[in-house]
Amino acid sequence: MTRVLRHVSLPVAALCVVVACSPLGAQNDAAQAAVNAAFNKYKTLKEGKNADYIPALAKVDPNLFGIVLVTTAGKVYTAGDLTTEVSIQSISKVFTMAQVIQEQGVESIEKRIGVDATGARFNSIIAIEAVRNVVGSGAPEMNALVNPGAISATSMVTGANADAVWGKIIGIHNDFAGRPLKVLQDVYKSESDSNQRNQAIGALMFAYGYIKTNWQQAVDLYTRQCSIGVNAKDLATMAATLAAMGRNPVTGKQVMDAAKIPPVLAVMATAGLYDDSGKWLYHTGLPAKSGVGGGIIAVSPGKFGIAVVSPPLDDAGNSVRAQKAIADISNALKGNPLASATQ
Ligand code: GLN
Repeated sequence: MTRVLRHVSLPVAALCVVVACSPLGAQNDAAQAAVNAAFNKYKTLKEGKNADYIPALAKVDPNLFGIVLVTTAGKVYTAGDLTTEVSIQSISKVFTMAQVIQEQGVESIEKRIGVDATGARFNSIIAIEAVRNVVGSGAPEMNALVNPGAISATSMVTGANADAVWGKIIGIHNDFAGRPLKVLQDVYKSESDSNQRNQAIGALMFAYGYIKTNWQQAVDLYTRQCSIGVNAKDLATMAATLAAMGRNPVTGKQVMDAAKIPPVLAVMATAGLYDDSGKWLYHTGLPAKSGVGGGIIAVSPGKFGIAVVSPPLDDAGNSVRAQKAIADISNALKGNPLASATQ
């Protein structure tokens, strides 16, 4: 009896925390409902195919499907597989670019690599030739989210030797994820044995002056960063840290200067889904990045980060289920930043 009376005398705010009756509680319900709805809608979808040009990726379970949304207040909503790690692949390009921007400023990436979409596939060699042929533009028309620009960005991370550079690359990934991440050695070995195309890209970028240092080291470190193991929760926390302007909402650590986040998001918006970036932006308005390991992260600035892991890819190299699930969830939660004036 005394206990009941004590409960009744709780302040309204405290009661709301217990029974989720506050406006925030209602929003939370909507986020979980949107995540559940997308999971149930797409869990049996079988479109797409695992990447197989890196042999280890062909062996990953295509049924793996996990969705995580993390708000800028650090609330976490989940469905499906949250713990199985896949290789981060091209999503790492965002964080290595962020490292360069953090230590060398926003202009560093713009001047050396450029911040324009190539309109070509992520490992296009013709795109390198096209950049070289643009005379007098002042900066290359490339970006750090396709392989040539990404290998160049990796080469820009400073350090006395490969270990020192790697320490910074893994360090920024750990900070964004909020936990120490590890390289998936089987993926690293498999990609190292089969990355002759990326070696050719590194050599060309060096030959044309877009890589100024040891290009072999840059390709190796790039391959290693692509092999970092992440689960859906890690990726969503990384996306939410971008959404919260560099403050990891789970750990509370400011991992990058807030003012340097919008340029990172801008490159994601223009080039994050390779040659399908325009289509993606047209429908969602969300800065995003995909990887051939099957992950996609997307950022609703000031609101939430979201990640989906599902290995089967479409022809452009983007996870089929991840694109559909993220678009649905963001639409349900009014996450499109380009539509904010109408919401
Ligand atoms: N490591 C992969 C590669 O270099 C990354 C590509 C991707 O995720 N799109 O081909």
